[in-house]
Amino acid sequence: MRVHNFGAGPCTLPVEVLEEVRDEFLDFGGSGMSLVEMSHRSPEYDAVHTRALELVRRVGGIPEGHEILFVQGGATLQFGMVPLNLLAGGRRAGYVLSGSWAKKAYDDGAAVGEVYEAWSGAESGFTRMPDPGELDLLPDTRYLHVTSNETIDGVRMVSWPDEAPLVADMSSDFFTRRVDWDRFDLVYGGVQKNLAPAGMAVVIGRRDVLEGAVRALPRYLDYGFHAGSRSLGNTPPMFPIHVMGKVLERIEEQGGLEALEARTAAKAAAVYSAIDTSDGYYRNPVEPSVRSHVNVVFRLPDPEAEARFLEQAAARDLVGLKGHRSVGGIRASLYAALEQESVDVLVEFMEEFRASA
Ligand code: PMP
Repeated sequence: MRVHNFGAGPCTLPVEVLEEVRDEFLDFGGSGMSLVEMSHRSPEYDAVHTRALELVRRVGGIPEGHEILFVQGGATLQFGMVPLNLLAGGRRAGYVLSGSWAKKAYDDGAAVGEVYEAWSGAESGFTRMPDPGELDLLPDTRYLHVTSNETIDGVRMVSWPDEAPLVADMSSDFFTRRVDWDRFDLVYGGVQKNLAPAGMAVVIGRRDVLEGAVRALPRYLDYGFHAGSRSLGNTPPMFPIHVMGKVLERIEEQGGLEALEARTAAKAAAVYSAIDTSDGYYRNPVEPSVRSHVNVVFRLPDPEAEARFLEQAAARDLVGLKGHRSVGGIRASLYAALEQESVDVLVEFMEEFRASA
């Protein structure tokens, strides 16, 4: 039995991929051992690694001038690695405080470098994104940090500012939308939402940026260490890398990012439509033009109704719908592997629940 998993991450992965991984788990490609028992220097693993790198590049449409890194520590480690590698010598970084995750990135930046708020959505309760011309940029800004999608607040950045070189945390909508990579010095995202089991971040950055650390760092924290070794400088997270390759292959077979972007928008539109046609029973606080396509947040009239909603949803195998503990409410995460069918079941349930309220 498989449930409809709306979890915010880790989350649902394509069942076909899970089945394939299960079937090969004990004996990988006739080697007589599991992939997770194998040397990361073996030819078998090297093929897995190379294929994953190629797929990230091809499916993501990543230009040659950008390097792809696989780094453990999730997106959280990147909150610190970015300023450690990019900030020094009087240069500072502006942060767009668009929600809970941007705030964390900013706090970690402040621990190791000079950072400042270029814009904050706190006053609006993180329900909007900056309009063009609204950013306050200081001189000597090395980069502007943005969060493409706020997983907790359900708000997404639709168009990218062009006032400074950009660094983006794309953890939650990574590889569900096409990206104009040339606009970015560096992009990072944890893989455990759209691409793979937890265990690493993918970092995509301009080669000169990744190879030009501005200070001496312990090797793992230095992008140059990963860039110079194809992310094989130490033992990489082999299993997530392998699964990611399979997930990307499937995304490619299903029409690539353009098709996935359209499927994702359609899933989101169905849930927002259930909210907007509920006569105010369900409420989404986000400015419509920047509503997230992957994390739809909504409230019911009171916390008791929300508790009943979650309970009755679970009875229909609709799980993972509880909002983040810091904000409460309901959150439906619609990542790449969540099927439209699951969304249809959710929407039907939302309508029935409201009718019986
Ligand atoms: N940034 C965003 C936008 C996220 O959604 C998350 C995780 N939910 C993180 C960063 C932190 O990621 P990790 O758990 O991989 O460190």
